[in-house]
Amino acid sequence: MSKPEKIVAVKGMNDILPQDAPMWELFENTAETILKSYGYQKIVTPIVEDTSLFARAIGAVTDIVEKEMYSFEDSMNGDQLTLRPEGTAGVVRAVLEHNLVYDGPKRLWYKGPMFRHERPQRGRYRQFFQFGAEAVGFSGPDIDAELIMLCRRLWDDLGLQNVRLELNSIGNADERLRHRADLIAYLEKHEDILDLEAKRRLHSNPLRILDTKNPAMQDMVNGAPKLLDYLGEESLAHLNGLRKILDRNAVQYTINPRLVRGLDYYNRTVFEWVTDELGSQGTICAGGRYDPLIEQFGGKATPAVGFAMGIERIIELMKGLGETQTPSQCDVYLVHQGEDAQLQAFILGERLRDAGLDVVLHCATPAGAGSFKSQMKKADGSGAAFAVIIGEDEIASNQAVVKAMRADVDKAAGEQQQSKVAFEDVVDYVVDQIVGDHDHDHDHVHYHP
Ligand code: ATP
Ligand code: MG
Repeated sequence: MSKPEKIVAVKGMNDILPQDAPMWELFENTAETILKSYGYQKIVTPIVEDTSLFARAIGAVTDIVEKEMYSFEDSMNGDQLTLRPEGTAGVVRAVLEHNLVYDGPKRLWYKGPMFRHERPQRGRYRQFFQFGAEAVGFSGPDIDAELIMLCRRLWDDLGLQNVRLELNSIGNADERLRHRADLIAYLEKHEDILDLEAKRRLHSNPLRILDTKNPAMQDMVNGAPKLLDYLGEESLAHLNGLRKILDRNAVQYTINPRLVRGLDYYNRTVFEWVTDELGSQGTICAGGRYDPLIEQFGGKATPAVGFAMGIERIIELMKGLGETQTPSQCDVYLVHQGEDAQLQAFILGERLRDAGLDVVLHCATPAGAGSFKSQMKKADGSGAAFAVIIGEDEIASNQAVVKAMRADVDKAAGEQQQSKVAFEDVVDYVVDQIVGDHDHDHDHVHYHP
């Protein structure tokens, strides 16, 4: 029989392996804790939505809708469906569908996979994870400042230092229209410098040309009419209100007049958190105000603002901090030999878990049940604080051998590295040792009573 062909993951879609999972958990726990501390509530929406939702929300002339969506026909009923490329559209749909803002504004957050058919490269994948927030029903610069400041708190808590904030206002539709006319005239004057992409966008989405990464266009684009110079009184007041709060709270930023969101529904505040440590995919968080969107969806006019972070990019930054020490798998590894010992090990395992400990019980592999020696090696590799060992002698004496496995718990355990402990006392004994140790070292211990 020939060997079956290997099946591999879809291009641009990644596995998150156990060695990386703790880093993801750390990010998610930190982000969720912070969002909660600002009063944000979790919302979960489906990964698949009607294609028309994204076409309407994101806008027909954007990268996403033009070429990046994974769309398909539901073979059961012919519905046109799309794997969500971003989170805002689904959240806004849910807010309207369930009338979530009937009793006032809502602060929401979400996380999950997004799908875009892009050319895979470092920091750019076809399935990637976003963590995002949407504040729906708030109109002032205060909530914009809040969203930005909770991002700052997140970078601080994660220990990310080389992240900077870029800020801009893209005004309202009228202001953009006046700017657009001048911008197109300017770009037409420099048509020889425009690349193909820019030429294509010249009349559909010229604002997005300002966003170009093409070095040959930088000088030209730097001299283009700035939307900031077209802002009316209200848009300016909003921007200045935001800047005042940021300044008073020592949030540093640069005003980047070229920062735009290519989507029609964005207005006023736009911002990005950027790093130089990730090559060309340096934006780890992008946000902005989208006051017109909900009305465009058929809802009552409701202002809103939000951001989305690319989690893969943030994880890569966190890896750069060098804190890649593999955390321990468990508090206790149960080593046993013989049938009676195995049954006793199961009973002790359940009782240790009842007490809040993480326990790995040695189980058989095709190589067999494993000698004491090979089981102890596994115990060592697991990073457990203690091995609880049961063999024939232990069954005969109703005592387990409890062995401290790490230098840090040795100390807490005193001189004695290895003790005989009656089966019924094993849980108390181990908990005592670990709680004693807990004061010294928080990082390794799983104990959660
Ligand atoms: P770009 O101009 O780089 O394509 P975008 O405007 O498409 O970015 P947003 O839709 O604003 O990006 O998404 C918010 C964040 O999600 C980005 O700043 C980035 O961190 C992350 N992100 C977007 N697309 C991808 C992707 N294909 N792979 C990984 N992360 C992504
Ligand atoms: Mg994109």
